[in-house]
Amino acid sequence: MDKKYVLSMDQGTTSSRAVLFDKYGNIVSMVQKEFRQIFPQPGWVEHDPMEIWSTQMGVAMEAIQKIDAHTDEIAAIGITNQRETTVIWDADSGRPICNAIVWQCRRTADMIEKMKADGMADLVKHRTGLVLDAYFSGSKIAWILQNVAGAREKADAGKLRFGTVDSWLIWNLTDGKVHATDYTNASRTMLFDIHRLCWDKDILDYFNIPESMLPEVHPSSCVYGYTDKFGGNIAIAGAAGDQQAALFGQCGFCAGDVKSTYGTGGFMLMNTGADAICSQKGLLTTIAAGEHDKVQYALEGSVFVAGAAIQWLRDEMRMIRTSPQSEEYCMSVPDTNGVYIVPAFSGMGAPYWNQYARGTVVGLTRGVSKDHFIRAAVESLAYQTNDLISAMKEEAGLDISSIKVDGGASANNFLMQFQSDISDLKIERPSCVETTALGAAYLAGLAVSYWADKDEIKKNWQMQKEFLPKIEPENRKKLLKGWHRAVKCALCWANGENDD
Ligand code: ADP
Repeated sequence: MDKKYVLSMDQGTTSSRAVLFDKYGNIVSMVQKEFRQIFPQPGWVEHDPMEIWSTQMGVAMEAIQKIDAHTDEIAAIGITNQRETTVIWDADSGRPICNAIVWQCRRTADMIEKMKADGMADLVKHRTGLVLDAYFSGSKIAWILQNVAGAREKADAGKLRFGTVDSWLIWNLTDGKVHATDYTNASRTMLFDIHRLCWDKDILDYFNIPESMLPEVHPSSCVYGYTDKFGGNIAIAGAAGDQQAALFGQCGFCAGDVKSTYGTGGFMLMNTGADAICSQKGLLTTIAAGEHDKVQYALEGSVFVAGAAIQWLRDEMRMIRTSPQSEEYCMSVPDTNGVYIVPAFSGMGAPYWNQYARGTVVGLTRGVSKDHFIRAAVESLAYQTNDLISAMKEEAGLDISSIKVDGGASANNFLMQFQSDISDLKIERPSCVETTALGAAYLAGLAVSYWADKDEIKKNWQMQKEFLPKIEPENRKKLLKGWHRAVKCALCWANGENDD
């Protein structure tokens, strides 16, 4: 039968989604289901791995059934997933030995502090491209081995398996025949040498993690195995972490290509080609999704509070009823009347890295209205993203000619125009903003020749709207100077914490 579709499994932090794409990258069917967030203690976040699996299978079945697709019509399955989240299961029974520890979970913060004291930061950075942090999987695995009854013994006997969510899904889809992951997911474990492309023995020894627990690592686009869960045999032919999948979905195939996602948080990735650039400004070096064992690298920076600042205007400040409404308020005034908001609700990320910084509003005068305040909050998304763009440009030494955007807040035309103005860059918004799921589909489709090559895929990328810089350079300079003064205030507030 004619292969008509590729099935993308998009396993996110709050929901599981399944999307069927056609050859042109159009969404033909999409189903989404939220699942439980488990908070056993303040700062701890868990998911039930069986719920991840069951919701993901459920939405995939429904998406297929919704358009009455025959499984023979599905060329391949691509998986993209919340990164770093850690699942450990028993190799014989296939049952998880505890809940998944989610990337946001801070339970291993003390272990990370000890690692810093043990002088591990440089080694970790040079081998894995990551800053020492509890986000990544390494310390989460070590925690489970130390704290879950019987785990240590089973691990030493070679009876446990670790996986990020992609591995967990592949294992289940293949009934335990395949224990594998891809380079992008491996590069977020803090256990993987991104230069030599192998698990790092020194870091494994430090954590006392047996290598027998770890999955085989393959390129993001290759046939991992086959599943008969939908009837017939379908190739599982793509896997990538969500941000890398999005870069691929935006056709960020070449050095210098950049995508910026404006979701609850913000994520910017720049393809740096064959060069793994070691950042001095706190950006992460990571592996980009691709087809080969000779990998491409990317620089990654994140904004902790992006769309969340708009949610804050809506839910706590009660200044707007819906997020899209923010745009009308922004357009109703010519500027912020001198106000800057730095939404450092939980510290500041790259390039400032200060976990004690807190939200700051500066420049208030009697004439400041709600419209100005809302505009300042929306502009803060662009300023923070611009700080990442500047850091990337400098460190990669690559010229950025344009950035491709996605995520919920990229729908805001005012924000996109302001981003273009402040960064002096062309902003390109595609018609398909489901770039994460699309990236996974492309990776899978390439591996089974559903798409011939990347050139064919590039033809699918369609511009919905582009934004070009309009403001005077002098004005840009003045605005940026104000922003950097405002950031200094947020940092100064943090530094003053211990003053009398
Ligand atoms: P995530 O995948 O992180 O859950 P989404 O990509 O769905 O996030 O984006 C949701 C975020 O985008 C929310 O924080 C919301 O407030 C914000 N948002 C959505 N639409 C707009 C808009 N038109 N203007 C500004 N912010 C928006």
